[in-house]
Amino acid sequence: THFGFRTIPEHEKETLVGKVFGNVAQSYDLMNDVMSGGVHRLWKDHYMRTLAPSSTTQHLDVAGGTGDIAFRFLDHVRGVTPGGGLGTAKVTVVDINPAMLEVGKRRALDLGYRDSTHLEFLEGNAENLHQIPDASVDLYTIAFGIRNCTHVDRVLAEAYRVLKPGGRLSVLEFSSVNNPLLGPLYEFYSFRIIPAMGDLVAGDRESYAYLVESIRKFPAQPVFRDMIKTAGFKVQGQGWEDLTFGVAAIHTGFKI
Ligand code: SAM
Repeated sequence: THFGFRTIPEHEKETLVGKVFGNVAQSYDLMNDVMSGGVHRLWKDHYMRTLAPSSTTQHLDVAGGTGDIAFRFLDHVRGVTPGGGLGTAKVTVVDINPAMLEVGKRRALDLGYRDSTHLEFLEGNAENLHQIPDASVDLYTIAFGIRNCTHVDRVLAEAYRVLKPGGRLSVLEFSSVNNPLLGPLYEFYSFRIIPAMGDLVAGDRESYAYLVESIRKFPAQPVFRDMIKTAGFKVQGQGWEDLTFGVAAIHTGFKI
């Protein structure tokens, strides 16, 4: 344990993750802004710019939650398509949690997406994407989701299966801070401030304590890069990009 939080046994993880996101769904978007001081928006904006989707991109956003990545995808495609249309671009959001998906669907309606031509929400597990055919996806993203999955190797194997040859896997996730000054501050913020804010803003200390523990337990950049390679992906250079001194990182792999 660390600061009194017990480590979660594997067989309990999926149930716990279900409860956590069921609890936080309604406050999720607000809490992201509060806890990151808005920085998660900058990371996600940067993420979409580097992914640079086009009007033909078939995008699968796994653990897509309330749609932050999917809406950025649609915005980006509109921005690069003459006439501001979406062409044949499509994003499918898969998430295991119906409460998170409901928030996403409501946001989609508010933004004017009323049919499933360019945006679809599916309930499903990253470890078994049986709804998604083999080699059907150009771009697979999972943002702040993979650390919540019990079997990361199964998630990566499914990503490999659904991607077309030449397709890209892109994982945005909290990672290991590589700055000696920021490190201790970040630890204090994570273990003391975040659970306290979870209590204050969302009335839910435990859920936010879990989120912090899941961040701490996720493998560091080189280890996760090697897991991506083991799943069959090719990586270029070191294979990841650090954001904010490694508070988060973008890992990339290609299915060749
Ligand atoms: N991608 C969104 C974002 O960046 O705002 C949501 C991230 S949220 C921190 C993590 C999401 O992962 C939750 O919506 C949760 O339900 C989902 N999740 C957890 N385990 C999952 C699994 N095995 N399969 C699919 N989604 C899962």
